[in-house]
Amino acid sequence: MSGPIAVVGAGPAGALLSIYLARQGHHVIVYESRADLRRADVDAGRSINLALATRGIVPLNDVGLIDRVDSITIPMRGRMIHAVGDPTPDLQPYGNQPHEVIHSVSRRDLNAFLLDAAEATGRVTIRFDARLETVDFDRSLLQFADGIEEPFEVVYGADGAGSRVRAAIAERGACEYETEWLDHSYKELTLPPNVDGGHRLDPNALHS
Ligand SMILES: Cc1cc2nc3c(=O)[nH]c(=O)nc-3n(C[C@H](O)[C@H](O)[C@H](O)COP(=O)(O)OP(=O)(O)OC[C@H]3O[C@@H](n4cnc5c(N)ncnc54)[C@H](O)[C@@H]3O)c2cc1C
Repeated sequence: MSGPIAVVGAGPAGALLSIYLARQGHHVIVYESRADLRRADVDAGRSINLALATRGIVPLNDVGLIDRVDSITIPMRGRMIHAVGDPTPDLQPYGNQPHEVIHSVSRRDLNAFLLDAAEATGRVTIRFDARLETVDFDRSLLQFADGIEEPFEVVYGADGAGSRVRAAIAERGACEYETEWLDHSYKELTLPPNVDGGHRLDPNALHS
């Protein structure tokens, strides 16, 4: 392979993918529209924690990050339903056995661990503040919002739900996709801790 492998998006998927590509001996450039979340006060998308299950644990184990991640997870044994008008929440367990839990983890910390591991391979370069506008497949160029163009030989789109890479592929007629918008929005609430610093809600559940 002569040209660079490009990955667009340094979220969990893009960072992990770059580690796997580096392990195969490839040199990878990852383009991320945000600033480096390890150095700047930028959000990592939604602040809501991710819930790690087997499909996330297996690759983290594979790339040697599971112990680091494990130290910052909280097991959740089920979904706690708070029904309107019912003062007693109802726990819906995720499994039948005590070990059948999923693990709450900070999205930002998980992403930071993956970025560290990608750079530690020595084969991954991450370019932050690089917002892809579109892909020119005829000239094999990535076109960025600031007007810069970068060559690629292979490009992977890991740029999330509103992927520009996917849109560029669809524009060529190579795939079709449909976006269906929800009729509600996303809201973040902050529940401050108790005066003694403890949790106000059971920390071992996902509350709905
Ligand atoms: C409210 C909410 C709760 C969720 N809870 C869970 C959960 O508990 N467990 C779970 O497994 N999943 C959960 N998900 C889904 C989870 O967030 C996604 O599966 C995961 O973030 C996908 O990772 P990703 O790397 O593919 O995309 P993203 O996390 O979206 O990362 C995409 C990256 O690409 C960058 N990017 C975007 N556009 C461009 C561009 N044009 N140029 C360059 N870079 C770009 C973004 O800045 C971002 O860093 C949740 C999602 C939401 C919205």
